[in-house]
Amino acid sequence: MSEEKAKIAFYWAASCGGCEIAVLDLDAAVLDVAAKADIVFWPVAVDTKYHDVEAMPDKSIDVTFFNGGLRNSEAIHVAKLLRKKSKFLVSFGTCACFGGVPALANFSGKDEVFERVYKTTPSTVNPEGIYPQPSHSAPEGEITIPEFFEAVYPLDEVVPVDYYLPGCPPPKKWILAGVTAFLTGELPPKGSVIAEEFALCKECPREKPEKHSVKEFKRIWEVMDIDFEKCLLEQGIICLGPATRAGCEARCITTNYPCRGCFGPAPKVKDMGAKMISVLGSIIDETDEVKAEQIIDDIPDIAGTLYEFTAGKSVFLRRKK
Ligand code: SF4
Ligand code: SF4
Repeated sequence: MSEEKAKIAFYWAASCGGCEIAVLDLDAAVLDVAAKADIVFWPVAVDTKYHDVEAMPDKSIDVTFFNGGLRNSEAIHVAKLLRKKSKFLVSFGTCACFGGVPALANFSGKDEVFERVYKTTPSTVNPEGIYPQPSHSAPEGEITIPEFFEAVYPLDEVVPVDYYLPGCPPPKKWILAGVTAFLTGELPPKGSVIAEEFALCKECPREKPEKHSVKEFKRIWEVMDIDFEKCLLEQGIICLGPATRAGCEARCITTNYPCRGCFGPAPKVKDMGAKMISVLGSIIDETDEVKAEQIIDDIPDIAGTLYEFTAGKSVFLRRKK
């Protein structure tokens, strides 16, 4: 990249804001980035409007880090706008890469989501059952809000994405690796995931058995005598490590919590849930087919557990665009 300062943008769509905080977590390194790059658009911190971005020449932003899944028409509009204005577009964080936790709503449709949110939650008072409408005629004129879609879409289902930087939120190490790659021009091949190229079990410090042998699966709070050194899966606690890409340094597991898959599928894994069903099937120590099936059936909320962060990419949950 030339001596001229690079132009960087950040955007959030359907997300919690954690990815924005992760950028601030760079601490003093933020100052190094600021010395080499200008942030030209960052709604959470910089007062730039959409029309300012629309006025920028195409491809004038060097790189945009886009976090959050796409749930409504505003997010789609901004995704297309930033794609047009940016040389490189990065799916930043788990929600942009795979839909994240918001995509768990893809197990239901828009109608079920609205029914729950605007009618049946205990704190809702809405006797006329009114839902938000994309447009409304008021004496002052037409009022519009973004249209809510049937499902949450990962960014690359709407616009082409150049790189993926997963994590909920992405760790400082990989954010710095990504930003440094753009600032130095030493970029990996397009389409790369900025993380490790192997599954989390390899990075996990726990003892793994030669061969797993599990008789039942339990929730973590049901295991009173948890072994802090031994593989969690071997103790009957569902851990998505075998299906998950490494790069987080096993940050949940080292605090005694099983992996929930926020780094997305490991290399060559197409679908987290399908891979984990195959893993679970192979470690159950039960030869009777009916009993083995019962062990799987007894896992509470298996779909939500296996797709906690990747429902937006599940091959079983394809929804019309
Ligand atoms: S299954 Fe989980 S606890 Fe076991 S080795 Fe893999 S990441 Fe570690
Ligand atoms: S252990 Fe799993 S859920 Fe936790 S940060 Fe790592 S990839 Fe994400």
